[in-house]
Formats: sequence, C-alpha cells, structure tokens
Amino acid sequence: MTLTGYLLIGAHEVAATAGTMKALNPATNTTIEPDFAFGGVAEVNLAAQLADDAFDSFNNTSLDERAAFLERIADGLDAVAPELGQRTSLETGLPAAQLEAETAKAATQFRQFATVVRQGRFRQATIDPAQPERQPRPRMDHRMQKIALGPVAIFGASNFPISYSVAGGDTASALAAGCPVIVKAHNAHPGASEIMGRVIQRAVEESGLHEGVFSMLRGGGNEIGEALVDHPLIKGVTFTGSEAGGMALFRRAQQRPDPIPVFTEMTSVNPTFVLPAALAARGGAVGDGFGERMLVNVGQACLKPAILLVIDGPGYTELRQALIARVETMHARTMLTPGIWKSYSENLERRKGAGAEHIAAGGNAQGAWDGQAALLVVDGARMLADASLSEEVFGPAALLVRVSDVEQLIAIAKQFRGQLSATMQIDSADHALAARLLPVLERRTGRIVINAFAHPQEVSYASIHGGPFPATSDSRFTSVGMTSIERFLRPVCYQGFPDDLLPEALKHENPRDLWRLTDGELSKA
Ligand code: NAP
Repeated sequence: MTLTGYLLIGAHEVAATAGTMKALNPATNTTIEPDFAFGGVAEVNLAAQLADDAFDSFNNTSLDERAAFLERIADGLDAVAPELGQRTSLETGLPAAQLEAETAKAATQFRQFATVVRQGRFRQATIDPAQPERQPRPRMDHRMQKIALGPVAIFGASNFPISYSVAGGDTASALAAGCPVIVKAHNAHPGASEIMGRVIQRAVEESGLHEGVFSMLRGGGNEIGEALVDHPLIKGVTFTGSEAGGMALFRRAQQRPDPIPVFTEMTSVNPTFVLPAALAARGGAVGDGFGERMLVNVGQACLKPAILLVIDGPGYTELRQALIARVETMHARTMLTPGIWKSYSENLERRKGAGAEHIAAGGNAQGAWDGQAALLVVDGARMLADASLSEEVFGPAALLVRVSDVEQLIAIAKQFRGQLSATMQIDSADHALAARLLPVLERRTGRIVINAFAHPQEVSYASIHGGPFPATSDSRFTSVGMTSIERFLRPVCYQGFPDDLLPEALKHENPRDLWRLTDGELSKA
C-alpha cells in the first residue's frame, strides 16, 4: 500500500490544513517518509457531520450485515499483516514478527465481535408483556433493547500500536455496537494508522455502508482532540494513555452543555503478592517469571507487573536473585517515543528520590531512546510512608517491596489506588491469607490472577480490562473482551408498540431466534 499521509474522512482523502509531520524511527532517531497531514476543527466538523449522517442507517443494519462488515475488516487486516508489521516496527522499535502477531489478534477481535453481533445478545432484549387484567391498574406492553450510543471518538494508544489503535478493540466494539467511529490517530505510528484506516475505509465501501461510519484524523496538538470531545454530534469517547491526558479529556466532556461518557484506560502497576508458602516453595521461579513479564514490550504495557510484594522469609533471597539475573541480562531496547523515554527516565529518578534503592540495571543504552531495565527495592515501611512509590513507572522498571509481616502486606494492599489487575502467587498453605487479601483486592482491581501474571490479556467473554480509578474512569466497564461493547450501548424502552413498528429483536415472533428476558425468564419465546 502506498502511504499518502492524508486524513481519511468518510470516503475522502483530505490533505493537510494545519501542517504536517513525519514519523520517527525511534531506533535510529531518524524520520521516515512521507509527510502526514494534520487537520483542525474544520476536519472534525466534517467527520462528525458525516458520522451523524451515517448513524441511523448504521445503527439499523441487520445483525448479519454488520457482522459481515466486521469480518471484512478482519480479512483486510490479515491481507496487510506483513506490511503493517514492518511499517509499525519502523515507527515503534517493536519487533515486526510481534506486530504481525498483534495484527492477527486485531483481526481475531473483529471476528469475535462479528459473532457477538450475530448472537444478538448485546441487544439485551427484554419483554414485559401487557397485563390488561391487572389490578388496580392494567400494565401496558413494555419492551426494551439496547441501541448504539451515537458517533464516538476513539483516542488510540501508543503502546499497542495495532490492537489498541485504529483497528483495535475500541474500534471493533464500537462498530459492533452500531456506532460510527472517528479515530484520533496517535502520532507515534502514523503510517501504521493509515494502513489500518484504509482497511476499514475500504470495508465500509465494500459493505455498502454510509461513508461516515469511519473517519481517521490526526492533529499537531491538543486542538483536534479537544474539538472532538467538544463536538455536539459526538456522543461518547474512549481513550488509552496517560492519566493527565485521559483526565483532561474526561473533565472536558463533563463540562459540555450535554456531558457525554468518556471511558479512559490510564494507569496501573498490577501489584503481585507472593504469599509465604509459595515463596518458600518456588521463590526463584516467581522472581524469574515476574522479571520476564515486566520486560515485555520494554515494560510499555498497561498490564506490566510493576510492583512485587514479598513477606521476607524463606525463598526471598532466591526470588530477589532470579529477578536481578533477569534484569541484568536484559539489553536496553528502543522505547516507543522520545516523550515516553523522557517520562521513564524522570519517573525512575523520582522513585529513587522517594527512597527506593536501585539494585540491578540492564545493559547500557546504545540508541538515543533505548530504555535500560532497572530493578529497585524498598522496605514495606517506606512504601507505606510514601504513596508515590505506588505510582506507575512506564518502562522496563519494577519495584520489589520487602514486607515485614502479614499486617504490613494488607496495609500496603489497602494503599494502592485502582488497578487493572492484581496477582497472588499462592500454595495451598496460603489459602487463609489469600482469602483475607481477596476482598482488599476486589475493591481495588478489575481482575485478580492466581499463580500466573496478568499479561498477556485474553480477549474473551469473561475478560475484564478495567478497574477503579485511576486504572479507568469508569470501573463498571471493560475496554477489552466481548462485554466492552456495553460502553457503546444505551437502553430504549418501547411501550405499547404494534408489532410492525417494533425493532427486529423485540418482535412477537422473535424472527432472529434471540434469547430474550420475558417476564423475568430467559427464553427464546
Ligand atoms: P498521552 O500523552 O496520554 O496521549 C494519548 C493520546 O491522547 C494522544 O493521541 C494525544 O494526542 C491525546 N491527548 C493527550 N492529552 C490530550 C489533551 N489534553 N487534549 C487532547 N488530546 C490529548 O499518552 P502517550 O503519548 O501514549 O504516552 C504518554 C504517557 O502515557 C506514557 O509515558 C505513559 O506514562 C502513559 N501511558 C500509559 C499507558 C497505560 O496503558 N497505562 C499506555 C500508554 C501511555 P497528542 O499525541 O497529539 O498529544
């Protein structure tokens, strides 16, 4: 595919109106062709109007039509996988083979959502039949289904440049729900964004859908993102990135004359608790496993296990040594962007300034934006005294916390802010302590993992990639997995409707053979 650098607004290719940029190859610190267009408020207005124009027809596509559209996108992603992997690798410093696998994961997500659409359960069809004889007052027929929220704006992430980006889970779940999508592409991978954007644009056309179902914009500052969040035709926003960026957009959306939901996924340290029997039995293996996972993607993963809490005792030395060995054998590797490298370096220094001791370092940096692995250690009392030690350091660093006893472990667990995940390494003799820790973790995290690590994340029906603030801005929803579609739906009740005016999911004959809740009972009646 020849990259043009244009903005993709509906079926149109739009040239720059607010300057251009080139992609940066962070491994060589050199720019890559071509120029990529920046747009401004006028382009936001155009994309939002097209999305609004597309809404009614897209929201009312048949389930089969919409599923076929999602499958077309999946096929398109498969077709560009090698090219997308190579371009994304140049723009991110991540290995091409890994990115090709990420493309396959993105395609799979679209196919999974096609299945969700065909099953139709997301409609949550619910029927309370009329009770004309009811006393003291008859009940009218009430029927409820979920419909799409409206056009939505999606801010792609920098760190998973395919599966959390233009063709990522947010886009897949929003389109599955029936929401036209406007992506604000991340400037860290503009070429990759264009390849994915063109795949979706082509699928819109080949599916015979309104062109406004998908647009992709790019901007040189906050203006374009702010205009998207402010636009009266935009009815929801998703975001993956920093807490500062996510909360700025969240607050902005709440200040609109008509506030809209903003689903942000921001920061998490994914604490790992090693309980005493597990430590004694396999401290070395736990340290080694943790070390391997903390370094995946140069530590630039929302699910990176970043803090390891261990009650001092048998197995501690083995765990610490295994972790040190992992870190020391890690070569410095290119980080995604100069900005992320700078934040990593500053946050690491801040953590040292807060009293953490730097006990192991990986290989020295060769390139300008190479991140050097780091292991720091701190004792439990210090951790309790300074909550800043519980904050994320986005990059290949982790903090080992040497805890004095069970009470201190529970106190530290209570100090954590909201998390995407928490892990317990346990043996059978640890179950009583695990049961004590469990309610503390349930209140603070979206996923609890036993004897494994949170990364990688499954994309399935029970997946939860969410959690209390600041992991996300709305702990009731997940941004990954099949139920992530719920972010883009809202309920509508149809009261006293004749059958011919009812939507398909609620018709008396149940033509799609959907599971429906009728008078409180699940059936296909
Ligand atoms: P970011 O700075 O939050 O930016 C994410 C996206 O939101 C970009 O497209 C950005 O546009 C836009 N944006 C941010 N603030 C905005 C604002 N106030 N108004 C309008 N648009 C705004 O995230 P990043 O560039 O990916 O990485 C920066 C830091 O975020 C990292 O160092 C890391 O600490 C954190 N991060 C965390 C995770 C995680 O999963 N926990 C993932 C990624 C990043 P521009 O690029 O045009 O500014």
